[in-house]
Amino acid sequence: MAKRSTPKKQQANSQSSRRYKAYQNKARKRLVDMTALSKCDQCSEMKLAHAACATCGTYKGRTVIDQSKAMDKITKIQA
Ligand SMILES: [Zn+2]
Repeated sequence: MAKRSTPKKQQANSQSSRRYKAYQNKARKRLVDMTALSKCDQCSEMKLAHAACATCGTYKGRTVIDQSKAMDKITKIQA
């Protein structure tokens, strides 16, 4: 025995997809809000809060990642 009433009409695909898109947007917004972003003091780029800036390598005004020593992209393997 059905616990809820039987749908009277078949639902249009657009109606289902509209409901799903609303749910998707809500979930996406929630994810963005969870990611704590802040502005870097040195280069004013967006960075993760409580973490060193990936662009300039500073954290709280001091350099923690030396950008000059950053490894070059490996393009070929030397034997
Ligand atoms: Zn920075």
